[in-house]
Amino acid sequence: MAVRPRMEAMSKRYAVISDIHGNLHAFMAVLGELGQHDIDEIICLGDIVGYGPAPDRCIDLVCNYSSITIRGNHDEAAVDPVKADLFNGAARQAIYWTRDYLSAVHIDALNRLKPVERLNGTVMCVHDCPVPAPSDYVHDKQMAALAFRGVDAHICLLGHTHVPIVFEAPCQNIDADYAIPDVTGWIPRNGEAVFLEPSKRYICNPGSVGQPRDCDPRASFGVLDLDRNTFTVHRVEYDVAAAQVATQEAGLPSILAQRLAIGA
Ligand code: ZN
Repeated sequence: MAVRPRMEAMSKRYAVISDIHGNLHAFMAVLGELGQHDIDEIICLGDIVGYGPAPDRCIDLVCNYSSITIRGNHDEAAVDPVKADLFNGAARQAIYWTRDYLSAVHIDALNRLKPVERLNGTVMCVHDCPVPAPSDYVHDKQMAALAFRGVDAHICLLGHTHVPIVFEAPCQNIDADYAIPDVTGWIPRNGEAVFLEPSKRYICNPGSVGQPRDCDPRASFGVLDLDRNTFTVHRVEYDVAAAQVATQEAGLPSILAQRLAIGA
């Protein structure tokens, strides 16, 4: 994969990846695909680890290629397994496995990630809902209306739900408590560019690289083009069967292998 060297003022096309979850097969397929998209930089919205059998390799690749990387809740739980107490059984088992599997260097790399980063004052990057809310999953207009209260930029990039989606809200009152009717949501089709109007605000979720949950097993990523003001979701086929074998051979819960085939 070729990514142009970082030139702050000229960087305009960003690959947006999230929720890799230790799935090296999916991640390699996405990195290979990025060569087709004239990418300047990569933004990773967190959850590099958890669920999948190659957390170390995925951390190495993110450290090599991503210019902004956010800490996800699974990354946090791998550093401090007490944080996994609220996870379901398979997720918790996978975090304990991940913690045992990773070297101190990899744990330290996760520990250094920040929960929020900003890009040129126009893009805010987080893993999940940027304000305290009944749920940290921004999966519908009600949750998006809450989440926009914590968005202090034109565009907020977030992941966590493993479902690609774009939410739009009015721009005029940046601190407004949006009502649900103020917010519009789209589930973008593969390759469909969503125009981000300068007079509106957006929450863009690229979906998940390593564990999609929208019934489409293909790896998902986004491209944010700040020249054209567009966000585009792309889906990539990868060797799901090989990822399932690797998951099972690692001794991870079999449900984590099975779900990859159905994207759920
Ligand atoms: Zn995740």
